[in-house]
Amino acid sequence: MVSKKVNKCSFCGRTDREVQLMINGIDGCICSDCVAQAKDLVDQTLKRPSPLALNKLPKPAEIKAYLDNYVIGQDDAKKTLSVAVYNHYKRLQHPEVEDDVELEKSNIIMVGSTGTGKTLLARTIAKLLVVPFTIVDATVLTEAGYVGEDVESLLARLLQEADYDVKKAEQGIVFIDEIDKIARKGDNPSITRDVSGEGVQQGLLKLLEGSVVNVPPQGGRKHPEQKFIQVNTKNILFICGGAFDGIEKRIAQRLNTHVVGFDAARNVAKIDQSNMMQYIAPMDLKSFGLIPEIIGRLPILTHLEPLDRTALRRILTEPKNSIIKQYIRLFALDGVKLTFQEEVLDYVVDKAVEFKLGARGLRSLVETIMVDPMFDIPSQHVDSYEVTLDYARQQVEKANLYVLKEQTADK
Ligand code: ADP
Repeated sequence: MVSKKVNKCSFCGRTDREVQLMINGIDGCICSDCVAQAKDLVDQTLKRPSPLALNKLPKPAEIKAYLDNYVIGQDDAKKTLSVAVYNHYKRLQHPEVEDDVELEKSNIIMVGSTGTGKTLLARTIAKLLVVPFTIVDATVLTEAGYVGEDVESLLARLLQEADYDVKKAEQGIVFIDEIDKIARKGDNPSITRDVSGEGVQQGLLKLLEGSVVNVPPQGGRKHPEQKFIQVNTKNILFICGGAFDGIEKRIAQRLNTHVVGFDAARNVAKIDQSNMMQYIAPMDLKSFGLIPEIIGRLPILTHLEPLDRTALRRILTEPKNSIIKQYIRLFALDGVKLTFQEEVLDYVVDKAVEFKLGARGLRSLVETIMVDPMFDIPSQHVDSYEVTLDYARQQVEKANLYVLKEQTADK
């Protein structure tokens, strides 16, 4: 009787009857299950984060110069962001601890009135990045169990950006917009629970301080069988932004109460009342209602300046894709050379200031002026068109700027 030789996997010991496939080697065998396991192990150990070539990465000054192309002013925020992103890359390159010196991440918080360029900065920097980047809104968050999204969902978007490559997502950057909206109302912990308040902040804290989080793979058709994906947030850089409406008052209060006594008069005189934001300190965020633990996890605090008339005027024309450049391009596509009288631009800025429309209002104003020419010009056989002050004035006066104000608020 010829007995068929039974192959045994040299790794798990199972026979070929117990496994789907047995692969024979010279002196042993391996089953398909062990091959799969070995592959995972190889992936985990060898597929280290792809080393980012630091010599090819833009230096902080280059990152800032790039931002300068698109964002007017806001030097403080630009510098802070440039350094943070650069350091983030360095940390990813050197994850190992040398001489007990561990490079810890420094999450950032940017404070500035609405429409001063926080999201624009985030979006612009995203174009430069080679790590996954996503912008999420804190207003959608609620405490677990309430209607709304759980804090973990912030990472779902990052995972999507990383094409569900967890290792890549774990090196990413998340911009959390409107962080002020989850602040407790006031400094005192309230007795009644607030749905989007301290509970959400506690949840967020978990992400910020670095922990393994179970992320629901939203829209994750690639992983229908998988309920949660585990993501370690240790190396994810969080940049938070918020308008913190009314925080100037708190800053002023603090400055006034602190500068009492001998030197008071001299110090008060030095305070630039038109831009209180520049004096922002962590304790102001606390008095606004962020819990101290969150503030502690956002060690870099930077501010955005309010946009004055000069800044608004520059925003109209200077950025690489400024509003005016965009209209000129639109007309050029029809073979029409569009020009604006200089006075038109000053007039637009005047109106934006008068009706407190901010930078967002600039576009709406120009749109109001341009809607008729954009309708008429393509069917007229002209090769140039100049927008005059008279025409601009007439168009704007026809429009109801109060409606425009409503439309531009909180977009
Ligand atoms: P925030 O996030 O601070 O509320 P955004 O970044 O969304 O404000 O700004 C709204 C729009 O206003 C931008 O899309 C951009 O067109 C314009 N804008 C605001 N600030 C600036 C700036 N500093 N430089 C250039 N454009 C700006």
